[in-house]
Amino acid sequence: MTFDELRAALPGRVQLPGDDGFEDAARPWITTVDQPVAAVAHAATADDVATVVRYASRAGIPVATQPTGHGASGNTAKAILLRTAQLDNVEVAPTERVARVGAGANWRRVLAATSEHGLTGLAGSSPVVGATGYTLGGGLSWFGRRHGWASDAVRAFEIVDAEGTQRRVTAESDPDLFWALRGGSGDFAVVTALEFDLFPAPEIYGGRMLWPANRTRAAFELFQEVTATAPEELSVWFQRFHFPDAPPMVALDAVYLGDADRGRELLARFDVIGDPILDNRMLRKPVDVGAVADEPTDPSPGFFRAEQLTGLGDAVVETLIDEPIAPLLDVQIRHLGGALSEPRVGGGARGPIAEPYMLYLFGLGLPHLVDGVRARLGAIVDALGGQISGQKPYTFLAPEENASAAFDSATLTRLREIKRAVDPHGIIRANFPVLG
Ligand SMILES: Cc1cc2nc3c(=O)[nH]c(=O)nc-3n(C[C@H](O)[C@H](O)[C@H](O)COP(=O)(O)OP(=O)(O)OC[C@H]3O[C@@H](n4cnc5c(N)ncnc54)[C@H](O)[C@@H]3O)c2cc1C
Repeated sequence: MTFDELRAALPGRVQLPGDDGFEDAARPWITTVDQPVAAVAHAATADDVATVVRYASRAGIPVATQPTGHGASGNTAKAILLRTAQLDNVEVAPTERVARVGAGANWRRVLAATSEHGLTGLAGSSPVVGATGYTLGGGLSWFGRRHGWASDAVRAFEIVDAEGTQRRVTAESDPDLFWALRGGSGDFAVVTALEFDLFPAPEIYGGRMLWPANRTRAAFELFQEVTATAPEELSVWFQRFHFPDAPPMVALDAVYLGDADRGRELLARFDVIGDPILDNRMLRKPVDVGAVADEPTDPSPGFFRAEQLTGLGDAVVETLIDEPIAPLLDVQIRHLGGALSEPRVGGGARGPIAEPYMLYLFGLGLPHLVDGVRARLGAIVDALGGQISGQKPYTFLAPEENASAAFDSATLTRLREIKRAVDPHGIIRANFPVLG
């Protein structure tokens, strides 16, 4: 395959194996994922996207869209890797409380634009995750307990369909496709921009409280107590850390979507633990929400596993609280519930989540650690038994998993029917295809 026609249509923006910079362009953010691709194409406009998809459709080559590679699975063999990072325009209409977000914009860029108006989108924990990939997979936000899944906040998608035609998709224009794109993943079209609801957030209150590991029990017990009665505006995560060359630690990360006085009052419950190593609870703007969990922003090598927890019973305590976590770096429990668990009239494919907590396990993917990390991930999951449901949000699927772990069977069946209807030749390839 020479890709001559595509190179001529996008001069200087198509790279093939052997070209200068190809290896870097083809590498995803999760550097442990091996990502074989036939070519990399960089789109700067929606017309460029249409050019790539039309070419791919004629040539019968799949297109894998990837703005950042945070969700890379390696499912890119023989595909054109379509880079959309340059489509990063963000427009905010404060009166209508809506943002139009180019498909390449990350959350930091989106929230920088919305914060100026005292508004927020339904961002997750990392400022460098792409708003579009995140939203297409459902999008579990710090503000989700109050406002639901990010995908359900979408009003419209601007897409290029599998034949390379540009169009706008809404609930009225294409009800099935609109439903599928809201949580069902990027398997149905290439999105060039989306429009989503914004929510009032003149200020948020929150931060991290970090203690030595001898406070693990105390922090976990308070986490259980506080999350049992927390208002929907409050989200708290429990985290255990064991970084190389540092002693183990425990943390509570919290974000309150509301005024500082009430936030301070709610989070004062944790003061009894005493003597934190770090405590950066403070008034913040939404654009600063990524600083709470302080996740790496540079490309990282890692292995992870997410599971939805049905509760925090004995198996959780024995496995996740009482045992050392090494060689894992991070054991994280996110509080769900609230609007995330409520059925929504006219909602998308993501749907409500029944489990009250989500577990996320992470270990470094360095060569000398790989076997130990993999073994520990598997052992923890086995030990949790009935405390996990086996499901996980689409955006937390690990490279070796597939879409069936993210959807119930009725949702998966409908997604598959829609996929066959809108992309019969399999030109659009998501990281976790619904037919896979
Ligand atoms: C540090 C870190 C923190 C995270 N925190 C959260 C969190 O708080 N909540 C949460 O829900 N998730 C979180 N995630 C997971 C993240 O949302 C997913 O990995 C998501 O897929 C990332 O989207 P992306 O566009 O950045 O990644 P990419 O890997 O570039 O894209 C992922 C997939 O999205 C689809 N896609 C992207 N853009 C388009 C497009 N324009 N058109 C069609 N399809 C497209 C493609 O199928 C692509 O394979 C986190 C991930 C990391 C690494």
